[in-house]
Amino acid sequence: MSIYECECMEPRLWDCEDKGTYLGLDMTDSRYGDVWLYQCPNCAKHWLFYRIEYPSFSKSGRWFRTVLSENNSDNIKPEDAESLMNASSYRIVGGSYYESPGIILTGTSKLPFD
Ligand SMILES: [Zn+2]
Repeated sequence: MSIYECECMEPRLWDCEDKGTYLGLDMTDSRYGDVWLYQCPNCAKHWLFYRIEYPSFSKSGRWFRTVLSENNSDNIKPEDAESLMNASSYRIVGGSYYESPGIILTGTSKLPFD
């Protein structure tokens, strides 16, 4: 048994990117972030998934996923992702930037979108 209430809460990439709905590119500050929305089939949590990389910088690849409340999971636009993710108190992050396959960040802090 996992210590997490659902597999989707585990600190790893999970299915948000592969099985999620692609919302499009976040072009805020010309950053080209890819954004997906995913609903877990087990626990019905809504996740927002974000992936970005700055090709001119090594170890800049990073992804974030955050739990959304049901009320704010409709009509999300890619450019809404940064404020929604910074407001979430349960984030899972990973990638070459973190040198980690997945870490849980709780509490509030600004994620490194830029
Ligand atoms: Zn789940």
